[in-house]
Amino acid sequence: MNIKRTSIVLLFSILLPFFFQPQSVSAFNGFLRQPFSGLERINAIFDHQYPNYNDYAHEITIFNGETTADLSPYYYAGHSGTDFNLNTGTEVLAAYEGNVTEIYTDWAQNPVSGCGNFVRIQHPNGYKTQYCHLRDVDGSIGAGVSVSAGRLIGHSGISGTTGPHLHFEVFLGPLFNVYYSTDPFGWTGSYPDPLINWPTTGQGHQAQCLWRSLPQDTLSCNDTWLQDAGAGFTTNHGTYSAEWGGYVYGNGSHVTTHINIDDYLTYITWNPQYFRTGAYEIFVFQPVVSDATASAHYLVCPDYNVSCTEVVLDQRVAYPEKWVSLGTYHFSGQWGFITLLAGTHESPYTKVVVADDIKFRSYGTFLPCVTK
Ligand SMILES: [Zn+2]
Repeated sequence: MNIKRTSIVLLFSILLPFFFQPQSVSAFNGFLRQPFSGLERINAIFDHQYPNYNDYAHEITIFNGETTADLSPYYYAGHSGTDFNLNTGTEVLAAYEGNVTEIYTDWAQNPVSGCGNFVRIQHPNGYKTQYCHLRDVDGSIGAGVSVSAGRLIGHSGISGTTGPHLHFEVFLGPLFNVYYSTDPFGWTGSYPDPLINWPTTGQGHQAQCLWRSLPQDTLSCNDTWLQDAGAGFTTNHGTYSAEWGGYVYGNGSHVTTHINIDDYLTYITWNPQYFRTGAYEIFVFQPVVSDATASAHYLVCPDYNVSCTEVVLDQRVAYPEKWVSLGTYHFSGQWGFITLLAGTHESPYTKVVVADDIKFRSYGTFLPCVTK
């Protein structure tokens, strides 16, 4: 990878106000592996308010408790699953062992399902999973076939939708003989999960993070995920008058950008506010933005001793729509943060510095799952 690292020391005591809050811990039920290989963008996340495609409020409430306006096709209200940005032909894998209960492969001749060509699997722990918009279903897969976790079940495509992606949905049940859609990212909001009141007040459920979270997994219950908006995210513009600008794009709903400048006082910071001391791998999501800089300077600042590591990323098209690792560091739970500078030392100063989501991947033995 085209990443260079240098170690620098910065006095960042003015950077951040820090807040110390207790962590809550819930029982860990992780069993799902990611239903494809590699790191890909999530286009749309589960709506905890009304996961029924019929949300007239035109708002979506996501797993971390944030509510935002309907930002179709990103974060659209009423979404009952997770959309992964898979190109047509990507191998789709069973997220857990189980028995195939139903497949549909006739979309081209008979487009009756909004799910397109699909596979549904019943798992031994009571959950079901569904894989929609497939180009094809593997020839070995049919109703009654038992599958192991990670087995190839088909290829992603565009059936029943307008752009290629995998709609992955998890069902919990039965409750009163009905299966209800649930969010495999669980609920980490600071207030009760709205799903408790869906579809009937007080008779729903609180979503649990269901990813199995092994070290090799690219989705994990041990991820602390910070968006470029909301809690844990701050922008600063030093002596330069222009503010960081945001617009709707990329992973989730939002991207923040700034024209590069020769100024180390203009920066943004991600601070995971509920954090344990331990080893974390840092991933930044890198959307494609035109005129992006070849020299984005990230500062990984894992501890109070203010020794930060600088990591320089080429943001042009080096990592299009992908998560990019900045390396693994030992973080102090009280002080760790990541900063992205608008200063690039890259003349002319017409290029764009791009900020999107950041994930902190825990490599500690933190089970049971920590909810943020
Ligand atoms: Zn979907």
